[in-house]
Amino acid sequence: MTNSKETDIRVAEIFGPTIQGEGVLIGLPTVFVRTGGCDYRCSWCDSLHAVDPEYRDQWLAMSTDAVWTKILELSGNTPVTVSLSGGNPAIQPFGDLIRRGRGAGYRFALETQGSVSKDWFAELDVLVLSPKPPSSGMETDWAAFDTCLHKAQGKPETVLKIVVFDETDYAYAKEAAARYPLLPVYLQPGNHTPPPADDDGAAVDQDGLMEKMLWLVDKVTQDRWFEARVLPQLHVLLWGNKRGV
Ligand code: SF4
Repeated sequence: MTNSKETDIRVAEIFGPTIQGEGVLIGLPTVFVRTGGCDYRCSWCDSLHAVDPEYRDQWLAMSTDAVWTKILELSGNTPVTVSLSGGNPAIQPFGDLIRRGRGAGYRFALETQGSVSKDWFAELDVLVLSPKPPSSGMETDWAAFDTCLHKAQGKPETVLKIVVFDETDYAYAKEAAARYPLLPVYLQPGNHTPPPADDDGAAVDQDGLMEKMLWLVDKVTQDRWFEARVLPQLHVLLWGNKRGV
């Protein structure tokens, strides 16, 4: 990675416009800013190229100006939703970019596991909090998670998104949803085939994913958990684990 200033944003990739493949904005055209670096190490992380320091030399330290210029270029100066993802985008200095972009009519969504909070959360349009279930090997710090909600001040549309691999994860998802009854909850079957960093997407077990999706739909309906929404990862159905789409 190039030498960076505190105000620089560590970028693993910027791409789009494509569609948002998951959660509350599924199907919506978006430009992605995927940042490099994460305070978690989930066992099944599907974005290792934006997490593992092994790929650090592929990340760029970009100024807010440079990121904004790239977003304008990709969107053809037409306001679009910008999805901030990672890694954990909450550890990056995004406040200026969000203010600048929203001033020009762009919308900003951020997805984070809820371990790090920032004052600028309140300036987002959409905040997706995605606590990681037991299969990730990570433990949720609910106090830190609550601080994220506190910083958001009820301003962005805020939702829960939880990946479910197995029964234990499902129980965790139910507990998390019960903790935050006012937040819409999106469930997503886990993808067991995380790609190597340069994967072309061919290796995804689509049949296995569909099986997991059907299992999750059955769980939710049999449980009469009628507030939960179950969604696949649309981009994985379309392009496998390919990067930059
Ligand atoms: Fe990967 Fe997200 Fe877990 Fe970070 S929080 S290791 S980006 S799955």
